[in-house]
Amino acid sequence: MDADHTIFDFEVSQEISLRLAFNKMGVDYQHQYGKAYSVINKAAWLAFERGEINRSELQEQRSQKFKEIVGEHFDPIDFHNYYIQYLSQQVHYYDDAKETVEELANHYSLAMITNGLAPVQRPRIQLSGIGHLFDQITISGEINLAKPDPAYFDHTFDALNNPERSNTLVIGDNLIADIHGGQKAGCDTCWINNSDLDVFEKIEPTYIVRNWNDIAKLLLN
Ligand SMILES: [Mg+2]
Repeated sequence: MDADHTIFDFEVSQEISLRLAFNKMGVDYQHQYGKAYSVINKAAWLAFERGEINRSELQEQRSQKFKEIVGEHFDPIDFHNYYIQYLSQQVHYYDDAKETVEELANHYSLAMITNGLAPVQRPRIQLSGIGHLFDQITISGEINLAKPDPAYFDHTFDALNNPERSNTLVIGDNLIADIHGGQKAGCDTCWINNSDLDVFEKIEPTYIVRNWNDIAKLLLN
């Protein structure tokens, strides 16, 4: 299963970390910055997941574009460093996510598959208190591979001693990284559509759910 926007409510983590970073830099935080940063961040990750930019370009472009919105007085390097530091300390679960993952671990072998940055994800997983429930945690920043690249999934399957792929379910919010990636890796897929999106690009998930209560009903009955 994916981590951000799937198990963890990343929007909350992002908003708190942005506010803390601005406060640290002595720059006034305005409400519209959060929304603007979300748009910039999602576009940058999409370009990264499509292989159009690499990880350092992602970070650079994201901070530069944000500077265009916040203004000339904004130092994108300071911002990036503070933001990453605060973000690495933010863990916010969706309703029922923690309890459901804990129960799933009693019945299934679990892997966490995240495209995040290692210095952000490792401390967050540590703080989350669920890291020990996963037989494998694959952080793209640590292996220089990212979902939806089949090599990312190959790495994860190898680490799990290659369980049957047709018996594996990929759960995630991202239609390209998680669902299309999972399909290319030969797995069933479960799209958690928690922001009420339309299916696009003719990707047909095996299952579509809205929340963790739905996942519990699907996998624990
Ligand atoms: Mg996600």
